[in-house]
Amino acid sequence: MQAITGKTKLLGVIGHPVEHSLSPVMHNAAIAALSATEGEQVDYVYLPFPVKPEGLSAAVAGFEAVGLCGFNITIPHKQSIVAFLDEVSPVARAVGAVNTVWRTPTGWAGTNTDVEGFLAPLRARDRPWKGTQATILGAGGAARAIVAGCAELGCEAIVVVGRDRAKLDIFARSWAESPIAIAPLSTRLWEDLPAVLAQTDLLVNATPVGMHPQVDRTPVEASLLAQLPAEAIVYDLIYTPNPTRLLREARQVGAVAIDGLEMLVQQGAAALQLWLNRPVPVDVMRRSLQEHLGSI
Ligand code: NAP
Repeated sequence: MQAITGKTKLLGVIGHPVEHSLSPVMHNAAIAALSATEGEQVDYVYLPFPVKPEGLSAAVAGFEAVGLCGFNITIPHKQSIVAFLDEVSPVARAVGAVNTVWRTPTGWAGTNTDVEGFLAPLRARDRPWKGTQATILGAGGAARAIVAGCAELGCEAIVVVGRDRAKLDIFARSWAESPIAIAPLSTRLWEDLPAVLAQTDLLVNATPVGMHPQVDRTPVEASLLAQLPAEAIVYDLIYTPNPTRLLREARQVGAVAIDGLEMLVQQGAAALQLWLNRPVPVDVMRRSLQEHLGSI
């Protein structure tokens, strides 16, 4: 890390807990790489700020007082931060959560870069999305960003699979007032999954099933994955382990596998680019996380 001086500008992440956040690792790695070539022009440091729910107002006032340039937001503040913002992007309003805030001349503005992060590895594949179906496993916070991303991609149908009919109905209704257009969205219970897999071009796991330490679990058994069409993409938002059992078995049936690390890296890169208003070294961010997580 470069030397911190009186001129160093501040960035950070707020959450509770925040000690497991991987954001300081990748942002400081990118800042160090940029400052090695650009010197004082990239004199920033990115810090974790543990902020309890009842401390959010004081924290934002403190950030204002010390001139923080911008910050990420993680659990439990992704919704409550909206009350402190002058501007909220349409995508963040659609998702119902803000993960990135930056300073404007009049106050704070917020957006959600998870959608961009999710989309980056899909767009890199340069596939036609018209007429495709996305099936999303889970109807929690991450699934909201995935629905918005699939809509932006141009998927023709979005199917959200959950285990609680009442929660699925609330999820489906929540898009009625969305400021961004959402493709026809339907919801199904897990027992209906076999019936939708054969039409699924993009299968996204937005549940924690298969995450460390329960690495032997999978949300979809291999025998069912075999029903996916040829060239289907299986995208697991989980990044530890990497690959998950779901992705290993998806590859075995010939599907294209995408892991959650790339989404994590790309949502971070999109945020840093907003703050610094310049291209950022995505490869440095990716490598720093891979090294930190021991996956290289
Ligand atoms: P969340 O808000 O808690 O939602 C989790 C969803 O999974 C809920 O719909 C939940 O259903 C469902 N679920 C949980 N356990 C299940 C089980 N055993 N069987 C079936 N469904 C189950 O969590 P989230 O924030 O959306 O995160 C979901 C996953 O995405 C996590 O693994 C997280 O690490 C990952 N994620 C990755 C990134 C990235 O950048 N790669 C970003 C965000 C999230 P109920 O509501 O019925 O409990």
